[in-house]
Amino acid sequence: MDMKKVLYSKLERYVKIKTPSDPNNAKESPSSACQWDLAKVLAKELKELGLKNVEITEHAYVLGDLPSNSKKKLPAIGFICHMDTVNPYTTNEIKPLLHKNYRGGKILLDAKKKMYIDPAKEHALKLAKGHDIVTSSGDTILGADDKAGISIIMTMLEYLKNNPQFKHGALKIAFTSDEEIGKGSKHMPLNKFNPKFAYTLDGLFGSVCTGNFNGNSLTITITGVATHWGYAKGILINPVLVAAELLTGWPKKHLPEHTDKEKGFIAFHDISGGMEKVIIKAGAREHDLKKLAALEKELRAHAKKLEDKYKGAKIVIESAESYRNMKDILAKHPEPLNRLLKALKEEKVYFKAAQVRGGTDGARLSFCGIPTPDISAGYGGEHGPYEWVSLDAMEGSVRVALNIVKEK
Ligand SMILES: [Zn+2]
Repeated sequence: MDMKKVLYSKLERYVKIKTPSDPNNAKESPSSACQWDLAKVLAKELKELGLKNVEITEHAYVLGDLPSNSKKKLPAIGFICHMDTVNPYTTNEIKPLLHKNYRGGKILLDAKKKMYIDPAKEHALKLAKGHDIVTSSGDTILGADDKAGISIIMTMLEYLKNNPQFKHGALKIAFTSDEEIGKGSKHMPLNKFNPKFAYTLDGLFGSVCTGNFNGNSLTITITGVATHWGYAKGILINPVLVAAELLTGWPKKHLPEHTDKEKGFIAFHDISGGMEKVIIKAGAREHDLKKLAALEKELRAHAKKLEDKYKGAKIVIESAESYRNMKDILAKHPEPLNRLLKALKEEKVYFKAAQVRGGTDGARLSFCGIPTPDISAGYGGEHGPYEWVSLDAMEGSVRVALNIVKEK
């Protein structure tokens, strides 16, 4: 089977079915009706590929089981992707472009608009010389995040159907909705999706995720002392100005635009209010839980200084857990990550192991008792018109997934 050809035909078909989730309709699940369109296509294909118990849940998750064909007792292994894409750049029709045998240098998306993907900005492309690259036509996203992942899983299933001599344990498949608005795997029916461990196929080109951020959401409420402006001298404490000082006085080294690798940050993302009170919303992120606590402590100390400076001002900081790093769970249950690393080496697939600077669907599942590391789906430049994916990297991930499920 010409795996790259199969992968491309699937990817092309899936990306043309636009599935942006809707951040303004996050109360509904799925947040956008278009996700049902892809769910129906995928459910039909899973049945054709011989999967059992295929169903679409009320939240538009597609589930299916491939029974074991081995006489040995093997663990059930799960594979998960999300069906939705981000919302921006999805107005126009998505028309994927295939650039065969990439020679290096800039990749042309749109000659009229002089739009290119430049390896000087997309560093991972430098590792993809000789690969077949797929991009959008420049006026939309491509949607390889995460339809490349779906294509990889479907190609693996097609391979297993065509090669019954290949012995494997039970596979549990789940395609989820609304990942891009932070709800992926939230509605996973764990009575039906219950493998021993699982993998998301949603990683950047060449990445193996060994952990993720701890995330807290912070609400900072600032009140002051109100009075008539005309007679305010020596009395007025204006929360608007205290808020401004709180934000501008926060050390730049703890902001997302000044951090990378294993350094955490606080991102202030929303501010509202007036003379009565000001509410600032922020997200705190750190790979290490102790460092996360230290970061919040520093913010509280910073607020206390302002309270001392502006007598009468009150700054209350509330912190709520958003998600946690799955690193410790993967360390306690080393089998899924060990299998993945071994498969990558055996299949000679390029990878770099690192903790991702975000959350993952797998993190949520890991805390529900299903350790779930992430496998690369081969894409880069996601969430915008410069998105690209390597068919060769996708093929590598199919081989890695097959290696993982193979009878041992
Ligand atoms: Zn994704």
